[in-house]
Amino acid sequence: MTAILIVVAVLAAIALVAPIRRAVFSNPILGVYRRILPDMSQTEKEAIDAGTVWWDGDLFSGKPDWDKLLRTPEARLTAEEQAFLDGPCEELCAMTDDWEITHERYDLPPKVWQYIKDKGFLGMIIPKKYGGLQFSALAHSAVVMKLATRSNAASVSVMVPNSLGPAELLLHYGTEEQKNYYLPRLAKGQEVPCFALTSPEAGSDAASIPDFGVVCKGMWQGKETLGMRVTWDKRYITLGPVATLLGLAFRLYDPEKLLGEKEDLGITCALVPTNTPGVNIGRRHLPLNAVFQNGPNSGKDVFMPLEWIIGGRDYAGKGWMMLMNCLAAGRAISLPTSSVGGAKAMARYTGAYARVRSQFKTPIGKLEGVEDALGRIAANAYMMDAGRIMTAGAVDAGEKPSVISAIMKLHMTERVRKVIDDAMDIHGGKGICLGPNNWVGRGYQVVPVGITVEGANILTRTLIVFGQGAIRCHPYVLREMLAAKNEDRAAGSIEFDRALSGHIVHTAANKLRAFFHAITGSAFASAPELAAPETRAYYKDLSRISAAFAFLADVSMLVLGGSLKRKEKISGRLGDALSMLYLGSATLKRFEDTGRPAEDLPMVHYAMQDILYQAQQALDGVIANFPSRLVAAGLRVVLFPLGKRFSPPSDELNHQCAALLLAPSAARDRLTLGMYLSKSEADPTGQLEAAFLATIACEPIEKKLREAVKGGKLERRMQEDLAALARDKGVLSAEEYTLWQRKETLRKGVIKVDDFPQDFGRAEALARLDDTKPAIAKAA
Ligand SMILES: Cc1cc2nc3c(=O)[nH]c(=O)nc-3n(C[C@H](O)[C@H](O)[C@H](O)COP(=O)(O)OP(=O)(O)OC[C@H]3O[C@@H](n4cnc5c(N)ncnc54)[C@H](O)[C@@H]3O)c2cc1C
Repeated sequence: MTAILIVVAVLAAIALVAPIRRAVFSNPILGVYRRILPDMSQTEKEAIDAGTVWWDGDLFSGKPDWDKLLRTPEARLTAEEQAFLDGPCEELCAMTDDWEITHERYDLPPKVWQYIKDKGFLGMIIPKKYGGLQFSALAHSAVVMKLATRSNAASVSVMVPNSLGPAELLLHYGTEEQKNYYLPRLAKGQEVPCFALTSPEAGSDAASIPDFGVVCKGMWQGKETLGMRVTWDKRYITLGPVATLLGLAFRLYDPEKLLGEKEDLGITCALVPTNTPGVNIGRRHLPLNAVFQNGPNSGKDVFMPLEWIIGGRDYAGKGWMMLMNCLAAGRAISLPTSSVGGAKAMARYTGAYARVRSQFKTPIGKLEGVEDALGRIAANAYMMDAGRIMTAGAVDAGEKPSVISAIMKLHMTERVRKVIDDAMDIHGGKGICLGPNNWVGRGYQVVPVGITVEGANILTRTLIVFGQGAIRCHPYVLREMLAAKNEDRAAGSIEFDRALSGHIVHTAANKLRAFFHAITGSAFASAPELAAPETRAYYKDLSRISAAFAFLADVSMLVLGGSLKRKEKISGRLGDALSMLYLGSATLKRFEDTGRPAEDLPMVHYAMQDILYQAQQALDGVIANFPSRLVAAGLRVVLFPLGKRFSPPSDELNHQCAALLLAPSAARDRLTLGMYLSKSEADPTGQLEAAFLATIACEPIEKKLREAVKGGKLERRMQEDLAALARDKGVLSAEEYTLWQRKETLRKGVIKVDDFPQDFGRAEALARLDDTKPAIAKAA
């Protein structure tokens, strides 16, 4: 008994008395930690420091504060922003014809370019005092989304100057002189900007760009000037071929120490007018028939004054920090938003097409196989829009959510890929044959562009979401790392001990939470007071997943240490679980913010059940592949003691979601709110909507015709004849006949597929290629 008391007293002294705890416990761990902590490059440090932690911090804690999330006010557009969407943005959509742009011109028509510039589309993020529109992130997102439902080229051309580029960098770091000169010009479209970081040798590993500048003296406008000679070779630069202002990233060196003691100053960002002698610009790439302007540019030993550095010479070498700090806002909006636009358009068009197009005497949308794909489209579009709106709201509230922006970029571009795959399958040959009457094919072509740009998705999934999240959003990891790197060893030891103690309690609490919620079916997990009764269970399940994820993340970091960085299949799955938690939160919040409309519930249920299932599979995948089988066995006992509980959404739920796209309803309008809807029947998508409504209006007439044939009142004939016969025999009234005829005209227009003359596209090619020359000479 005495021995036990002594052991308890010793353990209590270690746990509770800080100096003893440090000496016997945390300092030895700190020693090991210092040895194994991987060295971080300056660029990695800057990437981790960038941005802010928001709801992602809650999800990492294992006990998200749902009331806090639901109390966050819903982002709303101002009257002025709404007027812009209903005015210039609507007008711009009406002006664009995607086939003309993507096939006939390979560019936006000059009048569209001019309209974009004149109406301030290129200056949505620029404050009014510089002549910009000063829009909220939500409005910026709404404009890009609406344009994306009409023309990818228009949407990208507007999106890029409002994302990470000259304007954003100038707003944060520009000198007064630079801001006063460039921002008004950018706002009014007198300058077309681009930003050039990527080079042939440095794609994903952008921090290793070989492009360089050397600080030197040179002649500038007739005077000897301190400047730099810059050499670069860039590719994939959006708007590059038409840009007048080139934002350029390169590494700056100062071998003669003209600026100070450092020779390698680091990545530097400058603004270079493209008419500067030596700038080679103007050639184009053709990214998968998406004809937005994109191309390479280069320069060799181009002399430019130091004043061209964004922020002036004080910001020489600070380019990477600037880029990382400005990345989140744009990344959270641009590609996620255009993907949501794509999903909305596909939801509306595919549902309408599936009602208009019949096979086996049934609208194809009512065939179960087609319904399966249609239901997925509806639920994905709901969840994606929820993510868009919640994220734009966070940016408007002042967040620069770096991890969330990566989640959004990754998952919105991936989900739209699924949506478009489903839409293509449902459209069949109609989606395959390109032409003015195809509203799906170009979307299918351009989807991989979003997957690749702004950090290709494989890298974003496997390296950034969890890698950055684990350090930034975890309540203790960054504190421990900073303490271990603290050069004041005594202060580092105290801080490490505090962080480690908190970390141990945090991990133990999450282990208990995860296990308890698993064996009680999340019954006692937290859900917000304010939540709708229909969705309360989902909050509880997300709380359980959050605890399980937090515990698993800690065990993975503890067991795998620095090698977790290379175990991308493990960290990718951990990132997936975190992402599902975020998207689930957004889905639930959207349902509350829109006033809990019962009609939307099938999409909410489907999205949530899918999210919980995906999160479970991600956690299970980590355990199944965990390098230590012993640890994996323990993890399984804690996280899935009763096995895997979540299953994919049911067929019945899928049926209900599909039904929402197959008939006009408030839910359908809410789902596709913000997309461009052509009112003209001369426009293929306007015709589709009219045909959809006419088809539904004519269904009673169709029934009458069927019954008349069955009852022997009418002979079965070709449908047009049948309707005429029915009118003549008094089965249909004159009014019904007119309605039927109109529906038939619209239906035929919708199912029509474009065809072209036999020499389509060849005449020009033949004129260019001289087939009379011998093949060998041509090859040379
Ligand atoms: C149409 C288009 C427009 C663009 N616009 C611009 C622009 O305006 N300005 C600009 O500066 N850049 C631009 N880019 C570049 C873009 O942002 C990407 O960063 C770049 O395309 C990725 O480089 P890469 O294509 O050379 O792929 P690579 O770097 O060669 O990558 C190939 C594959 O490897 C994966 N990968 C790479 N490293 C890792 C890793 N550590 N772990 C796991 N997977 C990894 C990637 O995810 C990718 O799937 C654009 C690119 C395109 C295609």
